[in-house]
Amino acid sequence: MKASIQHLQPYVPEKPLTTLKAELGLDQLVRLSANENPYGTSPKVAAAVKNWDFTQSNRYPDAEAAELRQAVATQQHVDPDQLVFSVGLDEMIVMLSRTFLSPNDQVLVATPTFGEYGLHAEIEGGQLVSVPTKTNGQIDWPAMQAAVTPQVKMVWLCNPNNPTGTVESLADITAFVQAIPATTMVLIDEAYLDFAPQATALTAMQLPAAYPNVIVMRTFSKAYGLANFRVGYAVVPPALAPTLQAVRLPYNLNSLTQIAALAAIKDQAFVADTVAKNATERALWQAFFDEQGIQYDQSAANFIFFTYPQADQLATYLLQHGYSLRTGLRPNWLRLTIGTAVDNQAIRSLILAYQDLQ
Ligand SMILES: *Cc1c(COP(=O)(O)O)cnc(C)c1O
Repeated sequence: MKASIQHLQPYVPEKPLTTLKAELGLDQLVRLSANENPYGTSPKVAAAVKNWDFTQSNRYPDAEAAELRQAVATQQHVDPDQLVFSVGLDEMIVMLSRTFLSPNDQVLVATPTFGEYGLHAEIEGGQLVSVPTKTNGQIDWPAMQAAVTPQVKMVWLCNPNNPTGTVESLADITAFVQAIPATTMVLIDEAYLDFAPQATALTAMQLPAAYPNVIVMRTFSKAYGLANFRVGYAVVPPALAPTLQAVRLPYNLNSLTQIAALAAIKDQAFVADTVAKNATERALWQAFFDEQGIQYDQSAANFIFFTYPQADQLATYLLQHGYSLRTGLRPNWLRLTIGTAVDNQAIRSLILAYQDLQ
């Protein structure tokens, strides 16, 4: 076994809800720890999947995902050849780490951020270099720029960032790209950008056509409500597309996945509804935290990162009352996925009741 992975522990995934409910003896459990879409999935996806011709099961899927490719290219105003699909963005993080990292290369992140970047850097024998975000959760750009040494081969920018939810401007991202060597890859993870106000003005989607070292990623798992289908993609500089297509497993997206994603992209009304409801609920959460004097980062996403004294005890109380939040990201901070209006109201009441108990 290669030395870089001998000490790794398996990722602790979300337990199936039915298992967790049985373990806790709960009738009702709402998972607000994984940033899933609380409004479900477009009914048009269900119809498209049911319509699939099962007699094609013995055939390999379309390795090019041609129809989906065209639909995404049209939606994002990019060349279809710039698109590389993956089994969720998780697989894209694996592919990019495999492609750009050699042992002892360094990978730069602004922490706290999504843990998968560091995991796959390690698996490739690379080292993670972390620059702390500012106290408001935003990237410290001068410090990031100063950290780009010749050993740094990849920089991950998560925008909006998981877990802080904070957003960076396209101007700042572009200035960073222009300030660092063109041989350092800048990988921009826009998993949550659909939820951000002015998302179309914030996206870095047009940068890969202009800069040979910029890649932008999206997933269908969050705003599109397709986490179970596992589909994401990267927009890459044209010169890199053949290499990334060579690294990608040819049949990584099965036909059902392609059909589901295509139906989801065609139902923009569902996405717009999800985004609008999320924005309303996010504002209600911020107002509540302000009233209660609870500190949180300014979120442009479908989750909020907030701090609470002995946060794990609050999380346990909420879990016992049927709501699971994400713990373990930073001491005394919790990440709450913004749920439906009814669930959010119920959780706020639980927090008030908990405060009365203290
Ligand atoms: C959820 C998430 C992803 C990946 O999700 P997939 O389901 O694998 O597409 C990628 N990046 C961030 C920051 C995420 O939170």
